[in-house]
Amino acid sequence: MKALDELTFDNRFARLGDAFSTHVLPEPLDAPRLVVASKAAMALLDLDPAVAETSVFAELFGGHKLWAEAEPRAMVYSGHQFGGYTPQLGDGRGLLLGEVYNEAGEHWDLHLKGAGMTPYSRMGDGRAVLRSSIREFLASEALHALGIPSSRALCVIGSSTPVWREKQERGAMVLRLAHSHIRFGHFEYFYYTKKPEQQAELAEHVLNLHYPECREQPEPYLAMFREIVERNAEMIAKWQAYGFCHGVMNTDNMSILGITFDFGPFAFLDDFDAHFICNHSDHEGRYSFSNQVPIGQWNLSALAQALTPFISVDALKEALGLYLPLYQAHYLDLMRRRLGLTTAEEDDQTLVEGLLKLMQNSGVDYTLFLRRLGDESAELAVKRLRDDFVDLAGFDAWAERYKARVARDGDYTQGQRRERMHAVNPLYILRNYLAQNAIAAAESGDYSEVRRLHEVLCKPFEEQAGMEQYAQRPPDWGKHLEISCSS
Ligand code: AMP
Ligand code: MG
Repeated sequence: MKALDELTFDNRFARLGDAFSTHVLPEPLDAPRLVVASKAAMALLDLDPAVAETSVFAELFGGHKLWAEAEPRAMVYSGHQFGGYTPQLGDGRGLLLGEVYNEAGEHWDLHLKGAGMTPYSRMGDGRAVLRSSIREFLASEALHALGIPSSRALCVIGSSTPVWREKQERGAMVLRLAHSHIRFGHFEYFYYTKKPEQQAELAEHVLNLHYPECREQPEPYLAMFREIVERNAEMIAKWQAYGFCHGVMNTDNMSILGITFDFGPFAFLDDFDAHFICNHSDHEGRYSFSNQVPIGQWNLSALAQALTPFISVDALKEALGLYLPLYQAHYLDLMRRRLGLTTAEEDDQTLVEGLLKLMQNSGVDYTLFLRRLGDESAELAVKRLRDDFVDLAGFDAWAERYKARVARDGDYTQGQRRERMHAVNPLYILRNYLAQNAIAAAESGDYSEVRRLHEVLCKPFEEQAGMEQYAQRPPDWGKHLEISCSS
């Protein structure tokens, strides 16, 4: 276990130089204080969890202090936002403080979000508010606990610094961890600004540091792109299987590592709704829940375009062609497991689709339905869950089909079925209204609810004593919360 001053830095991205990022110092927050810290994320840096409570911790991650070996940089990138190309974006309010490596030899980027203005701030103030910092923190750690690849969050630091959004709020910082903060938009930036040397340097950097096994392949860049396609297909399959809606799938928010990244107006589905749009500025539903699948491919094509200097168009097209079949295979595999099935049959796809359609029409809670389905035998569970549906004839037909399918699947005890299903069907997810309750308390200075909710979400599959209130459908006020895009 390390103390805060024992972290070891190796700032590989900073060494790429000024064409890739700009040196900027964090702008401190007034009266920094710990809102919440993740012990699991601290362990990634070998940090002793007790250091989170020290004043130095709040000073470091509130922008007051810096390690001598840190080299804070704002990265430049661009990207396609809502389908249109924006030629220059970049870290407008976040800084890559440096790269730390742990005792296992893993490198982690320390990225401080809300750290003040940079050359890429455009019209923004460089700040993040408490509300959005808490949401990013909870989402990162909750997704990770669900087994969905994501950037991680070490802590949220609150402050008394006023920040103006629709109303006056308080500034906060979230310390994000990832093996890399390189986005699709990094490649797009160097491609569209016609800087082939830097683009080649970037490609080498990503290949050497993050996809070294691709070096062994006859065409290393193509192998790397294929791997990125595969990782994205798997990540998005998990989003769809668990009802996660990202909300702003612009290419500047897509990680080159295939992890969930840059949390804005995201949401987990309460009632199943394929057409759900969590970002209320997304008037056309470009990033609606079901559109995430084709948008994943669209984003990969945008990256492919930026890689045309390195890979032939035919090879890129072929690699892009892997996305949908891989997505479907991962998705179906997960959904089978969520339904308690251990074998595969041709018709399983329509079994899943049939259920989702019924849930959609009756507004059934996606997470709780699947959790309860494993509580009892298929026979008893469908009998009990039937009341949630409006189209009873439709549900009965589905239930008959499901029971027959379960019977064909294998001979196992209810204990085994329950254990297997509960291991993939969470009881606790980050519902918007739960985040909202925790935020309201935190805004009035009480951080206990954020901390409790975080603890609960770290073990989403385990029933936790006294935590029943976190496993409920939202109350009426919490059903259709509009999450502000201004964060
Ligand atoms: P996002 O929608 O959060 O992914 O941000 C898109 C771009 O706007 C990125 O370049 C951000 O760094 C920048 N940005 C967002 N909010 C702010 C802010 N408050 N101040 C400066 N830049 C911002
Ligand atoms: Mg972003």
